[in-house]
Amino acid sequence: MTPDEFRRCGRQVVDWIANYMETVEKYPVLAQVEPGAIRDHLPAAPPELGEPFPEIMRDVDEILMPGITHWQSPNFFAYFPANTSGPSMLGELLSAGLGVQGMLWATSPACTEIETHVLDWLVDMLALPDKFKSTGNGGGVIQDSASSATLCALLAARERATEFRSNTDGLPHRLTAYASVHAHSSVTKAMMIAGLGADNLRLIPADENQALRSSLLLEAINQDVAAGYRPFFVCGTVGTTAAGSVDPLAAIGRICAQHALWLHVDAAMAGTAAICDEFRFIHDGLDLADSYCFNPHKWMLVNFDCDCFYVAERTSLIRAMRVTPEYLENRATLTSEVIDYRDWQIPLGRRFRALKLWLVIRSYGVEQLRSLIREHVKLAREFAAWVDADPDFELAAPTVLNLVCFRHRGGDERNQRLLDDLNHSGRVFLTHAKIGGALALRMSIGQANTQRRHVEQAWELIRQAATAAAN
Ligand code: PLP
Repeated sequence: MTPDEFRRCGRQVVDWIANYMETVEKYPVLAQVEPGAIRDHLPAAPPELGEPFPEIMRDVDEILMPGITHWQSPNFFAYFPANTSGPSMLGELLSAGLGVQGMLWATSPACTEIETHVLDWLVDMLALPDKFKSTGNGGGVIQDSASSATLCALLAARERATEFRSNTDGLPHRLTAYASVHAHSSVTKAMMIAGLGADNLRLIPADENQALRSSLLLEAINQDVAAGYRPFFVCGTVGTTAAGSVDPLAAIGRICAQHALWLHVDAAMAGTAAICDEFRFIHDGLDLADSYCFNPHKWMLVNFDCDCFYVAERTSLIRAMRVTPEYLENRATLTSEVIDYRDWQIPLGRRFRALKLWLVIRSYGVEQLRSLIREHVKLAREFAAWVDADPDFELAAPTVLNLVCFRHRGGDERNQRLLDDLNHSGRVFLTHAKIGGALALRMSIGQANTQRRHVEQAWELIRQAATAAAN
C-alpha cells in the first residue's frame, strides 16, 4: 500500500468508524449468530493475489458486522464497559503508524518517557499515594490487562518472599495467598501460572456488603502459619466484578504489614472513579499497598488494552522480571538513568499504549472525564432506587458506584429466563453473577454513550420481560 493509497483507504476507514459511532444504537447489542456462522462465510484458503480495499470493507459490513457484539452501544450494560473514544482511536492509529516497539528506553525514548510521565499524572488525578510515582522508589507501567498486572505483582511478591532465590533454590510449595471470594479469577490464574497452585489461594468469605471479612483473613493466615505454610500475598479488590463491592483496604493493609505480606489492590473497573473527590473513599487504606492497578480501558475512554499498574518499590518487580541477554545491552541501560519497561512486564516487546492515554487525557481534560463518571454513578443510583421501590425485585448488593446488582424475587430459574429473554431481544445486554448463593443480574452503567433514556428503557424492558416470563 503506497502512502497515497493509505490516505485514500484510511479516509474510508475513518468515515466508516464515524458512521458506526453515529449509528451504533441501531444494532442488536448482543450478536445474534450461532457458532460457526461467521466462518461459514470465509473462503477456505487465503487469496493468492491482493484484493481491492473496497471489497474487504464490503465484507466487514456483510460478514463481520452480524458477528459483532456492540460494546459501544448505549444499551450495553453487561460485564464492565470497554469504552473507546475518538482521541483514543487516533492515539492507537498514531501508535500503529509509528510502529514503535518500546521494550527499552533506547528503542524509542519518547515511548518510555510519555508513559512514565502520564502514569505520574494519573497518581495525582486519582490522588493515589505519592509512593507510586516514578520520582521516588516506585512507579507505574502500562500492562495489557489487570490480569497481567496481578500476575506481575504476585511474581514480585513471590520473589521478595523467597529473597529472590526461587529460581536457584526451587519454588517453595507452601506459599499461600489470600483474596475475597469475590476477587477476580485472574488471582487464581496468577497462582497457577506462578507455579504456586490454585489450592494455595485461600478465598476469604465476604460480609453482608460482599466485602472481604478482615477478621477471617487474619484467622486464615494464623491457621496457615500454624500448619507450616508461608503466607506471602493478599489481593484486595476495589469494585468486585460480581458485586462492585470494596474490600476494607486499611484493615487488610494492617494485617499485611504485621505479617510482612505483599498487598496488591485490584481496582480494574472502579479505580477511575477516584478522579472525583467524592468517590476517593474507595481507596481508603491504599497507602498500605505494595501495588495497585486500574483499567483506563474500562471506564476512562481509552480503548482496550490499557491497564495502569503501580508499585511502591520498583526493585522487587525489576529483580523478578529482569533477564539481560547480550543483544539488549546498551549504553543508556548501563547508566541506570533510564527505565526499561521490558523489566516491568512478562513479554519483552511492548506497544506505544501511552499515546492513546495521553491523547484521551489531553483531549477531554480531567474535568470532562469526571463528568462522565458522575453521570454514570447518578444513573446507577437512580436505577437502584427504581429496583428498590418495585415489590417484584430486590437489590442483591449495595450500589457503591455504577454497578447495580439485583434480582427478581421469583428465584434463579425465573431470573435466568428473564436474562435470556432480555439479551435475545437485542435491545439491551446484561450479564449475571452469583451473590449469596443466588443468581443476580448485573446492570453495569458505564458505557460512554449511555444516557438517562437508555437506562429508563432498560428498566422498562426488564419489567416487561419479567411479566412475560411469568406467563
Ligand atoms: N479485576 C477485576 C475486578 C475485573 O472486574 C476484571 C474484569 O472485568 C479484571 C480484573 C480482569 O481485567 P482484564 O481483562 O484487564 O484482565
